[in-house]
Amino acid sequence: MISLEGRVAVVSGAGAGLGRAYALALAERGAKVLVNDLGAALDGSGSSSSSAESVAAEIVAAGGEAVADGTSVATAEGGEAIVQHALDAFGRLDILVNNAGNMRLSSFAKLEVATIDEVLDVHLGGTFYLSKPAWTAMAAQKSGRIIFTGSGLGAFGIYGAGVYAAAKGGIAGLLNVLELESERHGIKVNGVAPMAQTRMVNDDLYSEVPATSVSPDLVAPVVVYLASDECAVNGEMWSVGAGSVARLFTGRTKGYFKHPAEDGPLTAEDVSGHTAEIMDTAGFSEPPNWPAEWQMVAKLNEEGSS
Ligand code: NAD
Repeated sequence: MISLEGRVAVVSGAGAGLGRAYALALAERGAKVLVNDLGAALDGSGSSSSSAESVAAEIVAAGGEAVADGTSVATAEGGEAIVQHALDAFGRLDILVNNAGNMRLSSFAKLEVATIDEVLDVHLGGTFYLSKPAWTAMAAQKSGRIIFTGSGLGAFGIYGAGVYAAAKGGIAGLLNVLELESERHGIKVNGVAPMAQTRMVNDDLYSEVPATSVSPDLVAPVVVYLASDECAVNGEMWSVGAGSVARLFTGRTKGYFKHPAEDGPLTAEDVSGHTAEIMDTAGFSEPPNWPAEWQMVAKLNEEGSS
């Protein structure tokens, strides 16, 4: 049985939806939880501390320990204040779930420039602003778990979610780097790309299955696992929802290679004539980091064209 007894968790955006399910599930396993939520409308506007307070009260009523926090994650000062609040309330920080998010849908043609910052600041900025002070506290104690929130919309795309998808793609990029920088400090950083019926996702999107099958409660167990000592992975983004848990990853096709020193410089016509090879996913590889990808290209050059 996975236990989080004695652990302290911060969950951002935990006043509703997925974050609430994560906070309740972490508390049920024994973690003390700082329930953060700005109490914003879906588009990120407005604020109210009542949703964070009601989830914290739910945890306390069930016999757990929790405090509410109504600070926005969208500024560096806010992120620091949230982490400091958890340290002041509970004396340490072991688990951070970066979950807070807003949603503005707009085709690229109709996108208003103001929307770009308003979405990036909460998802991508918020992930940086909270993770930085949390990472520092965790590195000092040489243990910690940080969980990011990605999205299938970011990984695979959907019409009208350009800024949201870019923010989630940025989070996936940060994850790739923290994978390399964190484990030596005892910190594991992973992510979930959830699928769950919340106010963010309109009823039609998951209409094929009953609402109980796309409950946030079916994502929370993965967050509990990634937050625990039992977590055996680092730097992974898992797609989670409706009973399914799957790994998302970035691969590289074998592609086309023309040896610059032996066969002459690559031309636009070479590219035009070899798009099928460039696109063919058979025999793809998954370099663990960028230096490994470059070594693959360097090796092609060393080996020559014959
Ligand atoms: P939700 O709207 O129910 O919850 C988001 C919460 O974040 C809200 O309670 C909101 O008040 C809070 N919030 C917004 N801005 C904030 C800020 N600046 N500071 C602190 N809190 C803030 O939506 P949800 O579906 O539970 O989404 C949770 C996360 O999961 C989001 O990051 C979202 O992008 C991601 N996600 C959800 C789905 C899904 O299927 N529901 C799919 C992919 C990704």
